[in-house]
Amino acid sequence: MSCLFCKIIEGIIPSNPEYQDDRCYAFADIHPQAPVHLLIAPREHLVSLAEAGEEHPALLGHLLWVAANLARKKGLAKGYRVVVNTGEDGGQTVDHLHVHLLGGRPMTWPPG
Ligand code: AMP
Ligand code: ZN
Repeated sequence: MSCLFCKIIEGIIPSNPEYQDDRCYAFADIHPQAPVHLLIAPREHLVSLAEAGEEHPALLGHLLWVAANLARKKGLAKGYRVVVNTGEDGGQTVDHLHVHLLGGRPMTWPPG
C-alpha cells in the first residue's frame, strides 16, 4: 500500500481522527490553511472525484454530510468552505479523494 491517506486511514501512520465511521475518516490537515482545516477521506481508495462511478453518489453525499456535521461540531456558524481539489489543474497533491473543510476566517473568491 503506497497511498499516504490509506496509511493514515489504516492507522499505519498515526493520526487523531476528528470523526470516523464505516465509510470515511476525518483528520486535521498537516498544513492548515485556516483555523479549522480538516480532511474527510473515504475508506475506499478512490484516486479523485474524476474517478467516481455510478456506485459512488451515496458515498460522495456522505462525505459532504460529514463535512457539514464537523462544521457544526467546530462551531463554524458564520460559514465555511468545502473544497475537492481534483487532478493536476485542480491542485490535487494527494491522490486519494478527500474533502477539505476550511473555516474560522473569511474566505476570498476567486480561489487561487
Ligand atoms: P490536495 O492538495 O487537495 O490533494 O490536499 C492534500 C492535503 O493533504 C494538503 O492540504 C496537505 O497539507 C495535506 N497533507 C499532506 N500530508 C498530510 C499528512 N501526513 N497528514 C495530514 N494532512 C496531510
Ligand atoms: Zn488511498
